[in-house]
Amino acid sequence: MEEKDQQEKNQQEYEKICYLCRRPESKAGPMIVMPGNMCLCHDCMQKTFDSVMGGNVDLSKVDLSQLANMPYMNMNFAMPPADAEEDGPVISRRQQVKKRKKKTGPDFELKDIPAPHVIKRRLDEYVVGQERAKKVMSVAVYNHYKRVYAEDMRLLGETQDAEDVRIEKSNILMIGPTGSGKTYLVKTLARLLDVPLAIADATSLTEAGYIGDDIESVVSKLLAAADNDVARAEHGIIFIDEIDKIAKKKETSTRDVSGESVQQELLKLLEGSSVEVPVGSNQKNALSPMTTVNTDNILFICGGAFPDLENIIKERLSRASTMGFGAQLKDQYDRDNNILSHVTNEDLRAFGMIPEFLGRLPVIVTLQSLTEEMLVRILKEPKNAILKQYKKLLEMDEVKLVFEEEALAWIAGEALKRGTGARALRAILEEYMLDIMYEIPKDSNIGSVVITRPYLEKSGGPLIQMRG
Ligand code: ADP
Repeated sequence: MEEKDQQEKNQQEYEKICYLCRRPESKAGPMIVMPGNMCLCHDCMQKTFDSVMGGNVDLSKVDLSQLANMPYMNMNFAMPPADAEEDGPVISRRQQVKKRKKKTGPDFELKDIPAPHVIKRRLDEYVVGQERAKKVMSVAVYNHYKRVYAEDMRLLGETQDAEDVRIEKSNILMIGPTGSGKTYLVKTLARLLDVPLAIADATSLTEAGYIGDDIESVVSKLLAAADNDVARAEHGIIFIDEIDKIAKKKETSTRDVSGESVQQELLKLLEGSSVEVPVGSNQKNALSPMTTVNTDNILFICGGAFPDLENIIKERLSRASTMGFGAQLKDQYDRDNNILSHVTNEDLRAFGMIPEFLGRLPVIVTLQSLTEEMLVRILKEPKNAILKQYKKLLEMDEVKLVFEEEALAWIAGEALKRGTGARALRAILEEYMLDIMYEIPKDSNIGSVVITRPYLEKSGGPLIQMRG
């Protein structure tokens, strides 16, 4: 009985979808529900009759119970397939869209948006260093959701602002070396704010009509992350990684279908527009239902490592300085490990980003490359730090795991050499922890293990202490 109630509730929450043309209720109008919960829109029903009966149909004379025997309609809907989802054999839950609720007030209140210092404080619990980036992001996100609130109020006609100042959208461009925490920062942010997040890779996007994913696929992903709830997706965050890979190609003789033209096509999404997206699939085809998502209130964050950008910046800075203050400054730039923070739009244009694209990413956040000291902190400090994870694993065997400071410094140094940022930390630890994790459970007398530098350098073993 309970199951049945739940089924009914689900059916009320999601839109019905026409089995033939795959349009949802909001597009195709009311549906005719057939046995087995198969729905047909009026258009498809009409077309089916027309084709079967040559156009002369008197509906009152049609025996609907015979419908299953019609040539175009014989879909065996009376027998749901074995793997059918609970409330209908025909269209899977993944492809159904939640009904839009009628808007009676803003989707959230101003007081629900955490203030920048609160966002920053919570980011601090997870993300080590990158102070400026965390600050800029906190403010940008705070402003973004204030803007969403203001737009909501404007649509509801509840704004009292006589001048009706419209706040412009402020999408974010994140620049930082690989493994410096770009994706991690965005993921943490979305989790703290409890908004859906989609992570897409710019390298897989191509101009519409070419092999690869269409631009709209990134919105499809967000819709899936929001459980096909369009209203929730419209307040979400889309992170497009590897954005530097769609820079304008310098010399090409063929059509640039994955560079400049992708930037061009992204413009409309970034700025805010209504797009038709396939539901439950990232490709448009006859079998996926479509729905409309408005990207106006979606926060876009584009991230990339932008290799060579540092040289472009240094060149510009030293060009300016040889005119003014003398060439000795060039050395100083060469030593500055935070050179990225001096980036300007001009540099990014020289890199190959088109001005219109940059214009839609007004907030620029730069991340520093991680130093050895930061890597050591990443190992130990974040709430879900890797060392804490290993300690917890061994704790379950009632074994205490300790890392010597010297050993941590060695791991950080080794990670720096690999040049993949903090990502290398886990790989290195996996290598060395394998034997420990294999051997320790063999002997239930072991009470603690100390990972020493000589063990890592392969000139000694870990310190093992017995219980009692
Ligand atoms: P990027 O997107 O910049 O290439 P990621 O965000 O994927 O790098 O970082 C890889 C991993 O390194 C993350 O999952 C995270 O665990 C860790 N990490 C990177 N930077 C930091 C940081 N500043 N603080 C804590 N962990 C970090």
